[in-house]
Amino acid sequence: MAAVRLAFVAAFLGVGPATAAVTHPGNTSIMPECVPACSRLANIFGPQAYSRGDANVTLWDAKQQETHSACWIQPSSTEDVSTILGVIIDTSCRFAVKSGGHARNPDDSVSAGGVTIDMQRMRSVEVSPDQKTAKVGSGHILLSLYQGLEKYNLTTLGGRVADVGLGGYVLGGGFSHLSPKYGLAMDNVFEYEIVLPNATVAVVNPQTHPDLYFALRGGMNNFGIVTHLTMRTVRQGQMLGGVRTYTADRRDAIVEQAYALTTGWKNDTDMAFFYSYGYDQESDDFTMAVSQEYVRPVISPAPFAQLNQIPFEHSTLRLDRISQFSIETASATPPGGRNLFATVTYSPSAHLDRHIQDIMAQEIQSLRTARGFYPNLVIQPLYEAAIRAGKERGGNAAGINADGPLTGMYKTNVPCYLALLTVRWENTDDDNHMDAFAQKWVERATAVTKDAGKHHPWLYINYASTEQDPFLSYGEANRQRLRRIQSEVDPRGVFTSGGLCRGYFKLQ
Ligand SMILES: Cc1cc2nc3c(=O)[nH]c(=O)nc-3n(C[C@H](O)[C@H](O)[C@H](O)COP(=O)(O)OP(=O)(O)OC[C@H]3O[C@@H](n4cnc5c(N)ncnc54)[C@H](O)[C@@H]3O)c2cc1C
Repeated sequence: MAAVRLAFVAAFLGVGPATAAVTHPGNTSIMPECVPACSRLANIFGPQAYSRGDANVTLWDAKQQETHSACWIQPSSTEDVSTILGVIIDTSCRFAVKSGGHARNPDDSVSAGGVTIDMQRMRSVEVSPDQKTAKVGSGHILLSLYQGLEKYNLTTLGGRVADVGLGGYVLGGGFSHLSPKYGLAMDNVFEYEIVLPNATVAVVNPQTHPDLYFALRGGMNNFGIVTHLTMRTVRQGQMLGGVRTYTADRRDAIVEQAYALTTGWKNDTDMAFFYSYGYDQESDDFTMAVSQEYVRPVISPAPFAQLNQIPFEHSTLRLDRISQFSIETASATPPGGRNLFATVTYSPSAHLDRHIQDIMAQEIQSLRTARGFYPNLVIQPLYEAAIRAGKERGGNAAGINADGPLTGMYKTNVPCYLALLTVRWENTDDDNHMDAFAQKWVERATAVTKDAGKHHPWLYINYASTEQDPFLSYGEANRQRLRRIQSEVDPRGVFTSGGLCRGYFKLQ
């Protein structure tokens, strides 16, 4: 069982054995403006939805677990969210919005000293009569969403981990096992219900608010609080999923197979995969893992035939429901520990994969004994078909469309690779060292991909580090358009870096 768990662990995040949540006393002080805000919210909503202490919620990262809010509030409807935002604006109290709580820094989704709006009660699922779309609450975690849809033998473009929130995942992009066929999750949202920065409610689709519809696909939490999304649903029974782990001496074979899958099998849009190269502190060695996804009930589909020839250590490959795969992945990526993400994008190249893995291996030398240290490098393709599917849906703010920075890739029929560096550690004293390590890796990985003429500027916002600016990477035209839209919908700057909701990535 432990081996199976490690397989998943290594595949996505490379986090080690479950670490207990670090319990620091926390020194966040309550903002004076938020005292009246909390008291008004307590009066309106009562103890069922209001809490002074940190509510009983899952927060993935210890840095967010240590962050204390003046109060927590759990809305049950769009009207509740509108009322809450009205009180907050009226009192000028700072706030944050929490969906699945997988962001990694204070104020991202837990307000430091202000109000945290926890969306977890907003988990409705309303399937349309033709079963082609579903209107769902933004407070779903991916598991509750999958389970709600599986009752109808449907699924949607969710991610791999059960307890990741739909809110952050879909507002940033959303890489799914269905992305090769349909694009990112955000390209499959047909309508948003949102509470705007002036606390009014809007229904946003290409006809009602074309600009805002564009902005919400990649614009993250810069435009209001999304309460419901109408998403594509897809008929889905059992599929192939699971992970195989390998010893590091298989690296060359795996790297070559990843390249072959990305380029040679790009037209088989039932297939998706990602693979990882991580450092295991216990054995003081590197391990590898490959996650296979095939959205039909085929245990050994043709694209993975060569990969399956490589001797592996452990395997969880099987046919199952996507909800079940997501539960296993979540049990391998438990909450707790301090974490960071950083990312680099480039055209597929087996040589570059090895190079940026080697850079990680070189840069970790002085950190190898840091308590709970687990660096892992996950590489996954953004398939040509996914870029095309996004374009067919009218493009998005993230620039994965005809006019955005990924255009060249699409035109030349070349997919790209996203490399995600994930790092977990335990001690606060190591925070700065870990940040410096990630920055160094980004610097060097960027340099080598540039030298090879294969660097791509696009950064996936949900994988970026705090030092990276994904909005710059969306292309100047998109960034300027986003800024204009923001100044129109939020003239008071409530959702800007100087406003009341400052966490995560802000448009500059
Ligand atoms: C273990 C793990 C697995 C992952 N797997 C995948 C994957 O398979 N595919 C993929 O693409 N990404 C994946 N990610 C990245 C993930 O998509 C992001 O971390 C995402 O932002 C998490 O969303 P959340 O709702 O859980 O986090 P939260 O911390 O709750 O939210 C993240 C940000 O979104 C904002 N936000 C959330 N809901 C709303 C809303 N309704 N309105 C306005 N703003 C809102 C929050 O305020 C916050 O700033 C993974 C991350 C982790 C840690």
